[in-house]
Amino acid sequence: MPGRPNRLSAATRAAQALRHIDEITGAVTPAIELSSTFARDGDYAPRQSYIYARDGGPTVQQAEKILADLEGAAGALVFASGMAAVVTLLETLNTGDHVVAQKVMYHGAIDWLKHLKAKRGIKLSFFDQSDEKALENTITDETKLVWVETPSNPSWDVVDIRAAAGAAHAVGARLVVDSTVAPPCTTMALELGADYVFHSGTKYFGGHSDISAGVLACAKGDAQWGEITLLRKQLGNVIRPFDAWLLIRGLRTLYLRYERASENALKIARHFENHPKIAQVLYPGLPGHPGHDIAARQMTCGFGGMLSLLTHSASAAHDLARFTQVFIPATSLGGVESLIEHRKAVEGVNSVVPDTLLRLSIGIEAVDDLINDLEQALERAQ
Ligand SMILES: *Cc1c(COP(=O)(O)O)cnc(C)c1O
Repeated sequence: MPGRPNRLSAATRAAQALRHIDEITGAVTPAIELSSTFARDGDYAPRQSYIYARDGGPTVQQAEKILADLEGAAGALVFASGMAAVVTLLETLNTGDHVVAQKVMYHGAIDWLKHLKAKRGIKLSFFDQSDEKALENTITDETKLVWVETPSNPSWDVVDIRAAAGAAHAVGARLVVDSTVAPPCTTMALELGADYVFHSGTKYFGGHSDISAGVLACAKGDAQWGEITLLRKQLGNVIRPFDAWLLIRGLRTLYLRYERASENALKIARHFENHPKIAQVLYPGLPGHPGHDIAARQMTCGFGGMLSLLTHSASAAHDLARFTQVFIPATSLGGVESLIEHRKAVEGVNSVVPDTLLRLSIGIEAVDDLINDLEQALERAQ
């Protein structure tokens, strides 16, 4: 754009993500392009490379351009949900391919890997993400894909992305990082060596708990990326234009929201760290957290809004989730409003999460209201 310096900081690029001055109306944000099909010119060639909405039309491609820029990626694709992106990526696996994934991470991704093991005969090994040496020891010469999530649900264990990339690449495997909890304002997973970075855009990117979205971005636009792009089209997993537009709007405040959520979460973590009614606080921003040193290196702009509190009894945890008045008892994360969740109750009987654990997604509210709310609920809990 004329008159603009060509390399603005990422926070500025995100804030101006929808910057667009319409020649006719002067509108400062673009309209949402809802068309499902696009007319051809006199030579029957697509006018602007758009053909059909299942490939991703103008609004979807605009979101992808912004995301690729913020991730420092060769390309980005936006999907109808995080799981749509996960399933599409895993669809590239062949029978016999060996996949290494975390023992504890997003349950939907684990469940789908187990499904592919049963139905397609992929080989699957899990590693303990809280043990720094475990990943390297689980990767074999046959490994094709390594899946890590950092920080990971719900203990916020931190995996060293650079080390994971080194171990994966040593055997020719690819590394996927689920960086939903650490968006590019704090962690640039591709710069640290990941081949793909994944986000549930439903969370911090959207930021307002009003869309479902999934994002994949790649370090290299190679043949496998081409296959993922084709699969998204064939499966019809693309995001809808209206949601793509809301996703872009969410990105405009991502840096501000993440900074505030991180600040609030750190204050809450410190407040409850030595509280008589709390057994343990799990937050990578606390120096006592086992992953703190790695987090301090790879989360450069805040440790995020996700933390877990462990109570002394399961009944106290259940009560706390019922008695809050500001925190909303709901699943999900990364919205402007704070949520509280009894994770084991949500994950079901197979969950390895302790039943004294509450997962908190800290929003952007005034932090004293959040602390006072937890205090009053703890006061009443049995
Ligand atoms: C929510 C979430 C997903 C799945 O994304 P959806 O948008 O709900 O499909 C994957 N990974 C993590 C870490 C998540 O929090």
